[in-house]
Amino acid sequence: MQLILNQSVSTETIKLLCLRISEIGFKGYPVKDGLTFKINIPNADEVKISQLKSVDGVKDLVHISTPFKLASREAKQTDTIVNVGDVAIGGENLCVIAGPCAVESREQIRSVAEKLSDMGVKILRGGVYKPRTSPYAFQGLREEGLEYLADVKKQYGLKIITEVIDTHSLGYAQEVADILQIGARNMQNFELLKAVGKTNKPVMLKRGMSATIHDLLMSAEYVMSEGNMQVILCERGIRTFETATRNTLDLNAIPLLKQLSHLPVIVDPSHGTGIRELVEPMACAGVAAGAHGVMVEVHCDPENALSDGMQSLLPSQFNNLYQKINRIASAIK
Ligand code: PEP
Ligand code: MN
Repeated sequence: MQLILNQSVSTETIKLLCLRISEIGFKGYPVKDGLTFKINIPNADEVKISQLKSVDGVKDLVHISTPFKLASREAKQTDTIVNVGDVAIGGENLCVIAGPCAVESREQIRSVAEKLSDMGVKILRGGVYKPRTSPYAFQGLREEGLEYLADVKKQYGLKIITEVIDTHSLGYAQEVADILQIGARNMQNFELLKAVGKTNKPVMLKRGMSATIHDLLMSAEYVMSEGNMQVILCERGIRTFETATRNTLDLNAIPLLKQLSHLPVIVDPSHGTGIRELVEPMACAGVAAGAHGVMVEVHCDPENALSDGMQSLLPSQFNNLYQKINRIASAIK
């Protein structure tokens, strides 16, 4: 259910209504949708909630028919903008996230951060807790890697996104990260989703490799139901019968997610293809399909990268892509 409030409603009334909602046994999530204040009440009993209709400030009570009680366009019609300091993700902005798959050494992350920052990139990616298919593959530098990320964050004023895989990594990473990444393999780790939902950090939720769009939105719902509304969705390719590419980038998901949800949608053509030469064209396709941003893996020495070298671009290659996607974004505005 959703309470639609009068435009002039006071913060006190919103607080009071949330209190009344919890007394009835539900949880109210206030949201500003354009100029309208609303309170979303997932799974509320219509009969019990209808007593609130007479409260001063309440205009209407409507039913939300989708299972995405907080993430759907029904819950909030206007695009959500996730603000990461002075960087806005969502709406009309094109957000670019770049950096290596993994932090490998102080010098490796410093050199790529310097080049990306010179190009105008504001958000640096770099995994330090790496959920790898093989236990014998590089698992990430963990806390040591976070220290290197903290250094480049300070030196270049970059925002940092890094993956968290459990509550241990979350505890450390949230000290450094501006955005917490939930990887494809953990998209349905519901306890982890609840844990990041309790933080005040934006969360980028990557689509699981076998997850439907419905699954992805239900996972976003897990984060939001804990009170964290700053969720960014990421299409990163899915498993199909096609083996010529690492994954099949599901471009359909971009306009569909934007239709179903108010949350920003980012495309990851690096994992979506697994092949360096395909990254630029698919980044362009993702932006043309309406993605609010792109996340790309960039490495100064892809041949010797400890993970995902095959899909990593050299900084100069990334610069070409960066120019192109900016042109596409302004062309389709
Ligand atoms: C990554 O971003 O490096 C990563 C591991 O991605 P995914 O979770 O989409 O496989
Ligand atoms: Mn990677």
